[in-house]
Amino acid sequence: MGSYKNSAILLDRAKQVLAGGVSSEFRKYNHPHAIFYSHGKGSRIYDVDGNEYLDFTLSQGPLILGHSHPHVLKSVAEYSEEGQLYAGQHIREVELAEKLNALIPSAELMRFCLDGSEAVQTAFRVARAKTGRKKFLRFEGHYHGWLDNVAYGISAPNADALGDREQPNVFPWTAGLPDSSRDDFIVLPWNDLELVGRVLEKRHEEIAAIITEPIMCNNGCILPKEGFLSGLRELCNKYGVTLIFDEVITGFRVGLGGAQSYYGVTPDLSIFAKAMGSGYPISAIVGKREWMELVAAGKVIHAGTMNAGNPTVAAALATIEVLEQEMPYDRMHRLGRKLMQGLQRTAAEAAQDLSVQGLGPMFVTYFGVSQPLSDYRDTLGTNKAKLGRFVAGLHDAGVRVIGRGLWYISAAHTEAEINQAIEVASRVLHDMNS
Ligand code: PLP
Repeated sequence: MGSYKNSAILLDRAKQVLAGGVSSEFRKYNHPHAIFYSHGKGSRIYDVDGNEYLDFTLSQGPLILGHSHPHVLKSVAEYSEEGQLYAGQHIREVELAEKLNALIPSAELMRFCLDGSEAVQTAFRVARAKTGRKKFLRFEGHYHGWLDNVAYGISAPNADALGDREQPNVFPWTAGLPDSSRDDFIVLPWNDLELVGRVLEKRHEEIAAIITEPIMCNNGCILPKEGFLSGLRELCNKYGVTLIFDEVITGFRVGLGGAQSYYGVTPDLSIFAKAMGSGYPISAIVGKREWMELVAAGKVIHAGTMNAGNPTVAAALATIEVLEQEMPYDRMHRLGRKLMQGLQRTAAEAAQDLSVQGLGPMFVTYFGVSQPLSDYRDTLGTNKAKLGRFVAGLHDAGVRVIGRGLWYISAAHTEAEINQAIEVASRVLHDMNS
């Protein structure tokens, strides 16, 4: 087991000046506490105690090419030499928009922002303006950022507490929310088309938009049931509701055209972030012309001093260039599936009740529930304490995965590293018996 002494010392120091010692809440919950890193290269990340990790966290998803990809670094450096921000336009943001337009089915017009959270809010504003309606329909367990009106539906203590499926109880994730934020949305369990249809029939005149992660990656890694996404598309058409895909995770991860291309369902608006920028702060709200014309005409205001600066646009262009040249997706899907199968096999050998589900480029491991997870309520029945021990054991053995059991594959991971991860997991799972 590696030592975490230097991280502990830095964390004590950080706590004097950084709230909780971190800059984002989720970073508190590493093992055995917030960890300080010194550098990352390819599929590896290194901490200040000299521990090396095979990284399946990929900074919560963005590092689709791995850490410090040379082409991304070079492009960022070269374009930053020319300037950083102009409070005006530059040629490469047009090139980037043209690229997205060519790759993503719904990306007829777009705007760039800094992160997923604000792009989600832009989509809500556009949908409200387009429909003249106020509420959005969202799903239990889907994460759409940390801002007020989406800080619900992700923090139930258990499945029973959620109650009735048609009118679930809704729990605020944080203190400090305005009461009005509760009025912005209706929340329902995911993957239940019949239920969405029933609610829309009764309440569509209130509902501006349905927002969904096309693959539910934030609680479990749950694929949409056959016909669910296309069914949402039909219902939205029928009732004049805007369909928003939150592709912050799936964008550039499941393929170049996101989940909308993968599943062949085109939303009206969608949000791209994480993997698009290889770790640089850039996101996009993209949509059909009919919706985004409202932004073009200045009826819906979207702004931001820092939007589409040279370094972030350079990072996104370089990332997409590499993805287009190397087309790593078949390989990422294959390696991911190999890892999923290896973990499942090794868990059976160790007599552990570990289950694995997802797509190759991202998948989840969980304990204590034998049937596949199909919505958030299912995830609440999994054994979180056991998962915590598994993730901590992996970490101590040099394999880093996200605390909620999510694994991301990058283009930098090799077959040998997938075998290495399976071997480490096998040891950890056997050790959990002793
Ligand atoms: N939407 C989804 C699906 C996400 O997973 C996230 C972040 O993890 C967000 C939105 C918020 O994005 P950001 O953290 O860039 O604000």
